[in-house]
Amino acid sequence: MKTKKHTTDVRVVTLGCSKNLVDSENLVTQLQANDILADHEKGQAAADVVIVNTCGFIEAAKQESIDTVLHYADMKSRGKLQKLYVTGCLSQRYREDLQHEIPEVDAFFGTMELPALLSKFDADYKHELIGERTIWTPEHYAYLKISEGCNRTCSFCAIPLMRGKHVSKPMEAIIAEAQSLVRRGVKEIILIAQELTYYGLDIYKERKLAALLDQLAAIEELAWIRLHYAYPSRFPEEVFDVMARHPNICNYIDMPLQHVDDGVLTRMKRQITQEETRALIGKAREKVPGLCFRTTLMVGFPGETEQEFASLCRFVEEIQFERLGVFEYSHEEQTGAYDLIDNIPPNAKAQRAGTLMEIQKAISLKHNEAKLGSDVEVLIDRKEGNSFFGRTEHDSPEVDNEVVVDAARDFVRVGDFASVEIYDVTEYDLYGILSK
Ligand code: SF4
Repeated sequence: MKTKKHTTDVRVVTLGCSKNLVDSENLVTQLQANDILADHEKGQAAADVVIVNTCGFIEAAKQESIDTVLHYADMKSRGKLQKLYVTGCLSQRYREDLQHEIPEVDAFFGTMELPALLSKFDADYKHELIGERTIWTPEHYAYLKISEGCNRTCSFCAIPLMRGKHVSKPMEAIIAEAQSLVRRGVKEIILIAQELTYYGLDIYKERKLAALLDQLAAIEELAWIRLHYAYPSRFPEEVFDVMARHPNICNYIDMPLQHVDDGVLTRMKRQITQEETRALIGKAREKVPGLCFRTTLMVGFPGETEQEFASLCRFVEEIQFERLGVFEYSHEEQTGAYDLIDNIPPNAKAQRAGTLMEIQKAISLKHNEAKLGSDVEVLIDRKEGNSFFGRTEHDSPEVDNEVVVDAARDFVRVGDFASVEIYDVTEYDLYGILSK
């Protein structure tokens, strides 16, 4: 057995999105490779050192991160923790304020400061580990980040302030990482970035998402490739052709549209109109038959009138999105929209979000009802109580529908694919039995 450099137990607490999760996976991998006892926090007894990887996306996420840091700061002041470090987006954005307000924290780090964080443990950043991270998702799926940062200028968005300009990972590094994940049993790779479609423009001087997908799809044993976070303006349509060509690229795309009213789109600086958005969705559905189109929309943007919101509702009714998430606008300092007046009261924002989700509930039920009696291929994610829970290619982990299979009646293995006949549905779940 290897001698550990440190006997202290380091735990990483991750808040926020899948991109942060990948950063934490890299951090834990680097610590372990330096012979340091490190793992993700799993809610067990306290460790000696805690690193909180924070999120600073919107007000609610910031508050959750601050509450978490305060929780561990309190543990440290009660002598239950030796050291507390804070990294990630919130720390990048508000380091000075946080240093002042939470002095119990031993050090704060920005999103690009992994080597500095490692140096606190006398650990070196090991370049040879790129692509070798241990994953914290179930063994059969993993997120793969293809770039960092964002060059867009959406007026509501604070992400470029925290993650910097777009930096694509070289294609060969992504392919090597995907191959390594597949060798370790991963069946589904979920491509993530702040903005997928910009991939390649910085390092290759041309958009390379389609070429990247072509290469990824050629990896044998990689059953599913899923695309998250594509920016709609000037979308590279050859991506749809590649999706249609390869059966192992899921008929699924997550394209956050944010809004569709032309006035709001202009104020959001989204560089697209409602008509162009409609045409793009039409093209996507035409080129990729059976496509599941996921989007997120934002309500309560400064100055969003009743008419503008009504136009958003009409669009949702018209398009019948397969999957939809709704955010309430959060007034973030240093963003372009911060100069506008945040004039929609919180209760009106919540009401608009609720209205949209009510519309979507009926749409989602209709989509699910269309699956009644059919056989669907399901990747089984977990067993809980007397049920197995899995997903179809139309569903991403955490955010989309699940297929529930009765474990008392049917046996399947977590991480395996199963053919399931759907016999019942609700708005957001499907119930099935193993197909004969
Ligand atoms: S494309 Fe996404 S990450 Fe980039 S600025 Fe716009 S909303 Fe933010």
